[in-house]
Amino acid sequence: MKKNIHAFRQNSSVKNEAVLNTIGIRGRQAMEFASMNLPILPGFIIDSNVGAYLEEQDLKRNVRSFMKNLETSVGKTFNDPKNPLLLKIVISPNLAVANYPTLHNFGLTDKTMEGFVGYVGENFAYHEALFLINGMLEIHARIAEFENKTQEAKKLRTKLDKLVSLLKDDHDVNEHKKFFDEYRKLLPEAFFDDAYVQLELALQTISRLLKIDDMNDNDTALLIQPMVYGNYGKDSASGNFTTRDIVTGNDEIQGVFFQNKFNEIGSNGKPITKIGPSYLKKLKDIAKRVEEHFKEIRSIRFTIENKKLWLIDQRPVGDKSTRADIKIMLDLLKRKVVNEEEVIQTIKPNQLHEILHPIVDLNSVKSLGSIDGGIAGAPGAAIGRVFFTTEKLLDAYKAARQHGEDSRFILCMPATFAEDVKAIELATGVLSSEGGYAAHASVVARQYGKVSLVKPELKISGNRAIIGKSSIKEGDYVTLHVPNYGEPRIFLGKADLIEPDPKKSGLLELIEIVKNHIGDFNVRANADSPRDAQLAIDFGAEGIGLCRTEHMFFKENRINVFREMIISDTDSKRSSALKKLKTMQKNDFYKIFKIMKGKPVTIRLLDAPLHEFLPHNKAEMDAFLTYLNKGKRSNKVTKKDVDLQIEALAEFNPMLGHRGCRIAVSYPEIYAMQVEAIFDAAYQLKKEKINVYPEIMIPLIMNENEIKLIVYGKKIEGSYYQGIVNIIDDIKSNKKAGEIPYKIGTMIELPGAALEAGNISKYAEFFSFGTNDLTQTTLGLSRDDFNSFMPDYTLYDLIEGNPFSDLSDSVKELITIAVRRGVMTRPKLKKGLCGEHGAVPENIEFCMDVGLDYVSCSSFSVPIANLAVAQKTIARNETDSASSG
Ligand code: PEP
Ligand code: MG
Repeated sequence: MKKNIHAFRQNSSVKNEAVLNTIGIRGRQAMEFASMNLPILPGFIIDSNVGAYLEEQDLKRNVRSFMKNLETSVGKTFNDPKNPLLLKIVISPNLAVANYPTLHNFGLTDKTMEGFVGYVGENFAYHEALFLINGMLEIHARIAEFENKTQEAKKLRTKLDKLVSLLKDDHDVNEHKKFFDEYRKLLPEAFFDDAYVQLELALQTISRLLKIDDMNDNDTALLIQPMVYGNYGKDSASGNFTTRDIVTGNDEIQGVFFQNKFNEIGSNGKPITKIGPSYLKKLKDIAKRVEEHFKEIRSIRFTIENKKLWLIDQRPVGDKSTRADIKIMLDLLKRKVVNEEEVIQTIKPNQLHEILHPIVDLNSVKSLGSIDGGIAGAPGAAIGRVFFTTEKLLDAYKAARQHGEDSRFILCMPATFAEDVKAIELATGVLSSEGGYAAHASVVARQYGKVSLVKPELKISGNRAIIGKSSIKEGDYVTLHVPNYGEPRIFLGKADLIEPDPKKSGLLELIEIVKNHIGDFNVRANADSPRDAQLAIDFGAEGIGLCRTEHMFFKENRINVFREMIISDTDSKRSSALKKLKTMQKNDFYKIFKIMKGKPVTIRLLDAPLHEFLPHNKAEMDAFLTYLNKGKRSNKVTKKDVDLQIEALAEFNPMLGHRGCRIAVSYPEIYAMQVEAIFDAAYQLKKEKINVYPEIMIPLIMNENEIKLIVYGKKIEGSYYQGIVNIIDDIKSNKKAGEIPYKIGTMIELPGAALEAGNISKYAEFFSFGTNDLTQTTLGLSRDDFNSFMPDYTLYDLIEGNPFSDLSDSVKELITIAVRRGVMTRPKLKKGLCGEHGAVPENIEFCMDVGLDYVSCSSFSVPIANLAVAQKTIARNETDSASSG
């Protein structure tokens, strides 16, 4: 049998694979720690070849020879009445699912009790004796259950239940002694006579359980180790700590220790840093070695018994922050324990949400009511007073600023539109009820780095928002908690937040490392303001993949000029409005190009579903009329005039109506103005010796005829449509300042366009898949309405995930077809994706596989997308080198 027992101690372990396969999970863990040269308790393992057959073995003889090593290590002797060594037996199955009881304190007998009491006191000693009985009774009860001895099993279970609750409560010595006398009778008489007899009886009983347990399959080993006690006199202690700060990631051990106490009995632990300096040094050294081995933060338990420090166990830490995960990897990189690839592969892309947005300090919400659930439109945490209209929120904001009051607000509306963007920009978050991930509120919130939560059951009535049984008054504080994983929550009141800090969180360092591994697949940003462009650069974007030009008119002082342009009923009115818009656009393009310094900037020409931009309420209409009549003495525009114009423009289905390039077919001067603004800005920067690389993108193209017309123009009898290239040529010859390199391309956001890609690419130098509209038009699902019935679809398993964040199979198929057909016509066709799907790591993998060149997503999502790209690139390189090697 000796060959079936395997000893280990600090720096001496079994390495033989065949043996390692027979010692179970806990056995292998023990061997791993032993090989790490950590101060672990020595021990030995009876392997699974004999684990279930110990009843037939001469245990005493075989085990005795292994005891010596344990005895010398801890300075105690098994079966010694004065200073007895006690043991624990750990059942070590090969399968983690098996759940066996904890078995401690073997060797505690009538003979050794007094000696043990001398060290730890009577009360504790009898408590431990009861704990020993508890473990053995559990084994006996399980055997009785397997053997169908129902009466006996029932009796044992009743006793055990009582014992388990007794062990939880405090008792005085006499009570403990009384319980001990009562319970020892349930075990064989000889059990407390002699330590070796006890060990033999215990091992045989456990072995019998392993033999009859069907789940065991001869696959379980038994690990035996000394017990050590942190209450073994004044030079003893116990404690636990994490290898570093689990919130900040700072390289400082965190935890508590208990002087002359066993584990956490008694709750007044002292900070671990107050332990004696020589122990602290050792613990720090253990922490360092454990981190270097496991390459993650671990939690460690230790015991000091009579001045000797022992590592009891260590395990992964569940609730650590992303910041801490990044910090440890950066530290290990500096120490050359890991390489850049390992740093990148360790952090999950979506974890980064946690350091890009504030998070709720969950310690601060204990006393607040809460409402669970909802659709996460933009993750993060936001606190503020709730207002139900943009106007009220803006007024409240101004007043708060004037009076130096808290100016954090949450916009709460069924849905938001263009004129609400200014409120979203100032608010900390948006709470809405219509749409979902791809709804206006969510898209804009993500773009501005704000929080968005969609609660379909939210109803606003008067000055109250009703959600289920809860009601929120206008002006009340709420806290939106929209985690990246897990259920969103609204806390009714003000929580504390933990703000992001890219420098401290390690984000900026991580971005630099990630950049070294992204190969030739790029991540660009959806940005339409200088602020977003700067953020895109800071977060590692390789360009702008979508500048939605209609978003540039969201600002308060611009929206009415834009409205004036939309509703113009004559060419001259439109051209006067366009002139004003051109100055605004040129200035914005100038600033954006300057920030992007020659990186590609894809400017999408106007795509404004009209219903999003027209006045939605009286206040907006009044402001619009005031704007239109400014400086006029006569011929004032009336509400009726505007209403008539709006009526004339009204559409039954604006999303499929006069939008995208269709507006330009009817009003070529709109795109002409935009192209001029782009090139005016570009030539100005050229003069300043700053490179500019515009890519002009035409939205909602359906077939080759549309793009051919818009790009190359057309002459028919009595009518001339000037194409973009002609406009650019004219500008070039006027400016006499040489070439500005540029590309003209299209969005692919209609199934027809995807199928027509082979023809469309004759006139498009690049494609950008607008998967918000492509999903909407492929599935025939309104991006703004789907969320109202999505729960039913999820309930009956009719759809997997949310197609507006996870690319659906049919959309993927259309992208695949379009890429294939597009490239067939134009091998150098550049291909990207700029819908909301571009920020989702799982979609990025598809985009890389299908042969796209980039994805474009909100600036705040750029680090997440870049990390996903780097991970995929590294995995690809590894597969390539494995297959070529
Ligand atoms: C899209 O449709 O995917 C897209 C990017 O355009 P928008 O969201 O502006 O319609
Ligand atoms: Mg679109």
